[in-house]
Amino acid sequence: MRIFVTGGAGYIGSHTCVELLNNNYEIVVIDNFSNSKRDVIDKIKEITKKDFVFYEGDVTDKALLSKIFKENKIDAVIHFAGFKAVGESVSKPLMYYHNNLESTINLLEVMNEFDVKKIAFSSSATVYGKPDSLPIKEDFKLSTTNPYGTTKLMIEMILNDLYKSDNEWSIAILRYFNPIGAHESGLIGENPNDIPNNLMPYIMKVAVGELDHLNIFGNDYDTHDGTGVRDYIHVVDLAKGHIKAIEKVLKSTGCDTYNLGTGTGYSVLDIVKAFESVNNVKIPYEIVGRRPGDIDACYADPTKSLKLLGFKATKNLEDMCKDSYNFVRRSKHE
Ligand code: NAD
Ligand code: UDP
Repeated sequence: MRIFVTGGAGYIGSHTCVELLNNNYEIVVIDNFSNSKRDVIDKIKEITKKDFVFYEGDVTDKALLSKIFKENKIDAVIHFAGFKAVGESVSKPLMYYHNNLESTINLLEVMNEFDVKKIAFSSSATVYGKPDSLPIKEDFKLSTTNPYGTTKLMIEMILNDLYKSDNEWSIAILRYFNPIGAHESGLIGENPNDIPNNLMPYIMKVAVGELDHLNIFGNDYDTHDGTGVRDYIHVVDLAKGHIKAIEKVLKSTGCDTYNLGTGTGYSVLDIVKAFESVNNVKIPYEIVGRRPGDIDACYADPTKSLKLLGFKATKNLEDMCKDSYNFVRRSKHE
């Protein structure tokens, strides 16, 4: 089976490419490196000792997509490509709507044209907005608070409409919770060039001395220690979730939505303490005001993905902290 992976040089995409190759899928990858580095492609090959076809290009380029589908017999698609920075989406909404929506619509049109009607799409727990209760189930009401989240929700609607119009489609909408960690080789991981927005990349930069301390956004939330609680999932577990999703997509039709999380919530302080103790390193921090738009707590009910996909995350917080630190130290020395 040959899977077309968009955004395959990115954080989650690269780990998923490794899992696909390890599971004997052939892959065809596209990325425009707008948020990733060229050498990731070689690192995927180094980890798996396997080769694959790579196109440097933009998923908004429909002619290129047609060329790729002409040159390769594709069985299914995993669509990661998109912009993902919440703050940037607020200041540059058109850039987000253009990139995330146009790429997806072009991709779906070309898939339709080539009669490839099987896709797994990267959505996000952000579409749950501020949930009324926890844990979060897939049928909870949906809302968004920023353009990034709105692009995800709009694409989910497009995919649902597409299936309604043509029941030959097979679609898995995957709502990720908070992926952290890195491949255990330390060769691939998440390493933003700018000052990171997300918690773990920020902690990683503090750990290696690139930033002097972590700002913890609020300690007056309704959680066990007052700091925000999230469902952190190891990126390798998340990548394995895509294998389960693509297996399901390949053998059935339908449009289904799945949470990919662990079901366990950890606070910011839980993460800081675990990172310090697992890696024997100090993470100085300061409690500052809340970050606008943040919610108290968010964690998945992972029952549906266990039942229907057979997916269960197996890595623990210790693995996530160890692998994150290993990756950042290794990339610093390269
Ligand atoms: P990432 O930025 O590391 O990866 C996305 C990749 O897509 C990058 O390599 C980027 O260069 C590429 N890309 C972007 N626009 C493109 C385009 N038009 N054409 C070709 N390539 C393009 O992000 P990630 O963390 O790996 O996330 C992957 C997907 O999962 C995204 O759609 C993101 O919104 C979604 N998601 C991520 C998280 C998270 O916390 N990381 C959570 C929920 C959902
Ligand atoms: N957070 C923090 N300091 C940071 C970045 C994040 O205290 O520098 C907190 C944030 O308020 C939230 C949690 O860490 O409670 C996870 O934030 P992240 O941005 O990683 O994920 P998201 O909020 O998108 O779930």
